[in-house]
Amino acid sequence: MNGESTQDEAFREEVRAFLRAELTPELKKAGARMTSVYADHDASMEWQRILHAKGWAAPAWPVEYGGAGWSARQRHIYESERVKAGAPPVSPMGIKMAGPAIIGFGTEEQKSFFLPRMLSGEHFWCQGYSEPQAGSDLAALQMSARRDGDDFICNGSKIWTTHASEANWMFCLVRTTRAERKQQGITFLLIDMETPGVEVQPITMSSGEWIQNQVFFDNVRVPMANVLGEVDRGWTVAKYLLDFERGSSAYAPTLKAALDRLRGNLAQASARPSPALGYRLDEFAVQIEVLDALEMEILGKLASGAPTGTDASMMKILGTELEQRFTELQLEAAGPISRAWQPGVSAPGGEVLTYPVPIADYCSDAPWKAVAPLRYLNERAGTIYAGTNEIQRNIIAKAEFGL
Ligand SMILES: Cc1cc2nc3c(=O)[nH]c(=O)nc-3n(C[C@H](O)[C@H](O)[C@H](O)COP(=O)(O)OP(=O)(O)OC[C@H]3O[C@@H](n4cnc5c(N)ncnc54)[C@H](O)[C@@H]3O)c2cc1C
Repeated sequence: MNGESTQDEAFREEVRAFLRAELTPELKKAGARMTSVYADHDASMEWQRILHAKGWAAPAWPVEYGGAGWSARQRHIYESERVKAGAPPVSPMGIKMAGPAIIGFGTEEQKSFFLPRMLSGEHFWCQGYSEPQAGSDLAALQMSARRDGDDFICNGSKIWTTHASEANWMFCLVRTTRAERKQQGITFLLIDMETPGVEVQPITMSSGEWIQNQVFFDNVRVPMANVLGEVDRGWTVAKYLLDFERGSSAYAPTLKAALDRLRGNLAQASARPSPALGYRLDEFAVQIEVLDALEMEILGKLASGAPTGTDASMMKILGTELEQRFTELQLEAAGPISRAWQPGVSAPGGEVLTYPVPIADYCSDAPWKAVAPLRYLNERAGTIYAGTNEIQRNIIAKAEFGL
């Protein structure tokens, strides 16, 4: 690859060899059948175990905590090769989000208890930030935690909680004090999901799948030892974690791999795209090149320690809008089979489904066609989660134009 150092080239070769040796057909299938940004839970955990055995489960963590200690460029190389090879991603809520927060703010006891279990997959995490009345205005959160001896007693609700039904731990923002500024008086708590009083209720997505949830807390007792950082100062931890949630996504390599795969699928089915679709696919390829150039520029800044300013917000907007665009093209390319899909088909009798998606069985010869409509529907959320794109535009407007 252009501009890559000899060490980077050697690293890329090492990653390729690892993927060739470790990626099973079942894991590749799970990668190909993804209907959202998440892979099937079991496949994702299996891949995490393989990465953990190699010492690669946590690319960005320091080596002393069991991480790979890779540079931003190495992480980008790994992600590019992973998506090209078709490996499923690892769930981000633990290793990418909770992990750095625990490393940054945790006590020695918290680090030695949580980090190894996060790496091994024994603990699977979900994120309890949003509430029914607190999304973009996150600091308006109301879930309460009242001190009782060495515990907090928590009451309230979190919503849109991805994978809460599979998670055994949640990192959670709670209100411990009513202060003048709403950002004050918030505490960052680590909650064992098996504690009595925690109830998870599914939210069925427009795709017919069950990925998000609402979680209710009824007098849930959480030890004070599970406060991350300081009581009433959780907003600092929350913001620190958000930088890890929004930053360092390899959008361009993911989209490049997806476009190559789509073209390959069309060629395999001898289904040449119509001239109009072919033109749009070419146009899309150019847009990915632009995104790639921007990502490389940001990587360069990270490597040199230059400030990245609003780059993360800009990448979130461009990356998610192009991801949505890709799902539109994929749906168009899938053609009439897409029309066979309707929520009732994938949810017979109104049942709530977990993935893998049974609809894939309807066209086992071309699962990409079956997942195209689901991926299209789920991707609508890309511009909403991790801070909506309108909020990212506000951030850019304030920082760059002083508005
Ligand atoms: C698929 C999915 C998964 C998610 N997973 C999680 C999770 O695991 N954990 C978690 O805590 N949360 C999760 N979320 C919640 C997500 O973070 C929120 O949906 C998001 O922050 C927006 O909040 P809201 O839904 O309350 O919308 P609102 O904040 O009510 O916004 C509604 C609309 O108004 C716009 N808007 C709001 N304020 C402004 C403003 N100041 N200027 C301009 N426009 C504005 C928004 O952009 C949006 O279009 C998830 C959401 C989705 C869709």
